[in-house]
Amino acid sequence: MNSKFETVFRTYSYRLYPTKMQQLELKALFDLQDHAFNDWADLANRGVAQGKNFETIQNEIEAHEMQTKRREDHYALSVTRKHVLALARRLYDQKIERIRFRLPNREQRSFTYKTVGISEHHLVIPSVGTIAMCDHRPLPVHATLCYAKILVDCYGAVYRVDLLLSVAIPVAEPQPVHYENVVGLDYTQDGLYVTNTGENAGYPGYRKLAQDKLRRYHRAAARFRPGSRRWYKQKQRAAKLERHVVQQRRNWQYQQAHKLCKEHDAICVETLDLVGMKQTNPSLAPKLNDNACAAFFRKLEQILHQNGKKLIRVDAQFPSSQICSCCGAYLGKQPLSVKSITCPHCGVTIRRDHNAARNIRDEGFRHLE
Ligand SMILES: [Zn+2]
Repeated sequence: MNSKFETVFRTYSYRLYPTKMQQLELKALFDLQDHAFNDWADLANRGVAQGKNFETIQNEIEAHEMQTKRREDHYALSVTRKHVLALARRLYDQKIERIRFRLPNREQRSFTYKTVGISEHHLVIPSVGTIAMCDHRPLPVHATLCYAKILVDCYGAVYRVDLLLSVAIPVAEPQPVHYENVVGLDYTQDGLYVTNTGENAGYPGYRKLAQDKLRRYHRAAARFRPGSRRWYKQKQRAAKLERHVVQQRRNWQYQQAHKLCKEHDAICVETLDLVGMKQTNPSLAPKLNDNACAAFFRKLEQILHQNGKKLIRVDAQFPSSQICSCCGAYLGKQPLSVKSITCPHCGVTIRRDHNAARNIRDEGFRHLE
């Protein structure tokens, strides 16, 4: 066994169950961070409007006093300050029009600590105390805490903590690659991908399935005054459902990625220009977002890496759908409406994405050698 270790970053997210008093204390923390953000954002907005240069604005923001005397809060405010400075840079470069102020009725608010106390079923944070925590999975053994982010999510419906950890994991032994165990994946709008054996992954499209409900909640929320109790109730419903969709998708993707990793030695995928695709054809965007194929490939790469295997990214310029995968003849550009192609040279008829997946597999394998 290899005794080398590598450091990776992992986020462990746990639900928190603060009492009514603790909720008020947390609210004070979120308010503190928002006030600091708004003060600095105001400085940046006014500075740019008055035509000051970036160094002056930066010095102004850095000289502006923090509104807290407690040392534990300094880390959170320095994070906020960095965030505002990054936004000020974008504002100064005219990439955004102005820095928007943070309002209290937002979907998510947070506060960051450098250190927190973690004990069984409890999280200890300065000034708020011991909060009940559902640690549904154990923390890794050799881990160091980078920071802890306390969040209130879904318009105040869900409290949680995100622990960013740096974890030392053993480096996996590189695995041998056999051609018959290499798989090529071609992206498809329906079902996420098709393999080189012609199988569709069959992603159910969770966002689409939840769409009617979501629309109903948003329409209901629009009838109430923003910030009112009934407005919050509908907003919370919608945000919780959105969160559920994200979790369903993530779960599906991890299961699929583990399955692929178990069955194959290496996986070849095509690099997609997703931004370009959305710009040239905006009607594709909802499905592209729902499929989240970039996130899927990232998960796949991580899992393969842990098992000593590789994800091979074939260049976006590679004409995967323009070559016959049987004889290698060039067929020319095929419009998106063509679902099945027939090769005039060898006479084979094959589905478009199946053909592309085979080409991606072969091209990826060539990269390996
Ligand atoms: Zn052919």
